[in-house]
Amino acid sequence: MSLLEVTDLTLHYATREDPVRAVDGVSFRLERGQALGVVGESGSGKTSLSLALMRLLPSNATGYGGSVMLDGQEVMALSDDEFRRQVRWRKLSMVFQGAQNSLNPVLRVGHQVAEPLMLENGARKAQARERVLSLFDLVRLPREVADRYPHELSGGMKQRVMIAMSLVLDPALVVLDEPTSALDVSIQAQMMNLLKDLKRDLGISFIFITHDIALASDLCDRIAVVYAGQMVEIGSADDALTQPSHPYTQLLLGSIPRLAADEPPQFIPGAPPDLTGPPSGCRFHPRCPYVFEPCDRDDPPLAAAREGHEARCWLLATEK
Ligand code: SF4
Repeated sequence: MSLLEVTDLTLHYATREDPVRAVDGVSFRLERGQALGVVGESGSGKTSLSLALMRLLPSNATGYGGSVMLDGQEVMALSDDEFRRQVRWRKLSMVFQGAQNSLNPVLRVGHQVAEPLMLENGARKAQARERVLSLFDLVRLPREVADRYPHELSGGMKQRVMIAMSLVLDPALVVLDEPTSALDVSIQAQMMNLLKDLKRDLGISFIFITHDIALASDLCDRIAVVYAGQMVEIGSADDALTQPSHPYTQLLLGSIPRLAADEPPQFIPGAPPDLTGPPSGCRFHPRCPYVFEPCDRDDPPLAAAREGHEARCWLLATEK
C-alpha cells in the first residue's frame, strides 16, 4: 500500500469573474520513505497543491475535491475538526515557503518547537524540552539554540528550526515548499544534505516543491512536473532529467544554464496562462513548439512513455 495516493485532486479559488483553477484533477502516488519532487514555474499551482493536501484553504477556496488516501485512510472524508486532530502535523506536516520569517520574534525558538507537544499531546514541559533537544540534534542545531530568539539566528538556522518543528509530532510525510529558495548556495547544499539524511535515517517521505528541477533530482526518487494546475509528467528523477517526454519538461531542462555548454540556455517562449481561463485542449499549446492538430481542441490524457513514466501529451497518446 502506498503511503499517499492522490486521485483527481481539485482546488479552485473563487474570483469576481471565473474561478482560478489552481489544482485541476491531479493524481499521483508516493511510496513510503520516498521523496516526490513537484516542479513548475511560479503560478503553476505547486503551492496550492500542498495547501490542498494540508487542507489549509483560503476563504475563497471552492471546488475542493478528489480523493487523498494517506496511510490507507481516506482523509477527504474527515471533517475539518477530525482532519486537524488526526492528520495535520501528526501524519502530514509542512514547511512553508519563507516560513523562517514567521517565527514569533518574542518567544525562544525551543519553546515554539515544543508548543504543539504541550498543546496537542499534553506533554509536560520537561518532556517537551527533551524532545526539542533531540530534534535539534537531528537537524544539527547546537542545543543552546533552543534558548535563543529568532533574531539571534541566521536564515539557515531558522530553516532548521522550521524543519524540527515539522517533525515534532513524528509525521510520516513532510511537504517542503521551496525550503531552500531564501538561502545562500552553500547553506542550500547543507540543507539538501540534511534532508537526504533525514530521509535515509528516519524513513521520512517528502513532497519537495520547487521551481528547480535539478535541485529536486538531488533529493527525490520521482519527479512530477506541473503546468497550469495539471500534472503534465511524472516519472523517476533519472528519467525526468535524462529522457523527459513532455515538451514543457524538455524546455524547462533546456532553460538551465550549463557551465560547459557552448549553447546559451533557452527560454520558454510566452508566459504561463491565466488560470481563470486556461487555453482549450492542451494548456501548453500556445507555447509548444510541437503543437499539432488535436492540441488546441482536446485535453490530452496522461499516457505511458515508459514503465512507471507518464506524460500528458498528444505526441504520446497518438503514437500508441
Ligand atoms: Fe505540445 Fe500538443 Fe503535446 Fe501539448 S499535446 S505538449 S501542444 S505536442
